[in-house]
Amino acid sequence: MGVIPKSLKTLTLELQRLPGIGSKSARRIAYFLFSLPEERLSFLGDSLKGLKHSVTMCSFCRILADTNPCDICGDVTREVSSICIVADHMDVYAIERTAGYKGMYYVLGGLLSPIKGHGPEDIAVEGLLKRVHQLKKIQRQGVKLELIFALSPTTEGQTTALYLKEEIMNEFGDDVLLSRVAVGISVGTDIDYVDTYTLQESLKGRSSL
Ligand SMILES: [Zn+2]
Repeated sequence: MGVIPKSLKTLTLELQRLPGIGSKSARRIAYFLFSLPEERLSFLGDSLKGLKHSVTMCSFCRILADTNPCDICGDVTREVSSICIVADHMDVYAIERTAGYKGMYYVLGGLLSPIKGHGPEDIAVEGLLKRVHQLKKIQRQGVKLELIFALSPTTEGQTTALYLKEEIMNEFGDDVLLSRVAVGISVGTDIDYVDTYTLQESLKGRSSL
């Protein structure tokens, strides 16, 4: 390791701390960066330096955005009759890519996990209840606000959904509709290869033809 220049060694160690980057990849990226022209490195450096200042969190839905409110909360053409509750920002981007949902979002910022020590204080429950209050006020007469849970079908996702359901029911009772995204067989999969749990869930969540 003594032959590796100090700066490259430091950069490699920093890159190694990024998710999904092992020591080999980190070294390769560090050498690749060194091979880039100076102006591209400056641009990259400036982007990193400005990251914390240029990105803000939407105070309505907690999405990371350029502006507050974000483009979604500030878009008057979007439907305000539903909130899609997700764990993470990346989930919003994934759902937006489908172009099949035109409602609002709420980012919890994590999931409950007793094993990892993540409790209710680690997810933005109060903010969610506040957002539900805000959107409930602007519903058309006779329209119930729908809360769609788009949480991973894991123990953590289910624990979180159950906890939030109770919190929401305590606060709003039957004044809101609760639903969750369908859990089931992936498109293009042979039923024969689907595990029992997924199959059970997809039968429970069947829809009419
Ligand atoms: Zn927003």
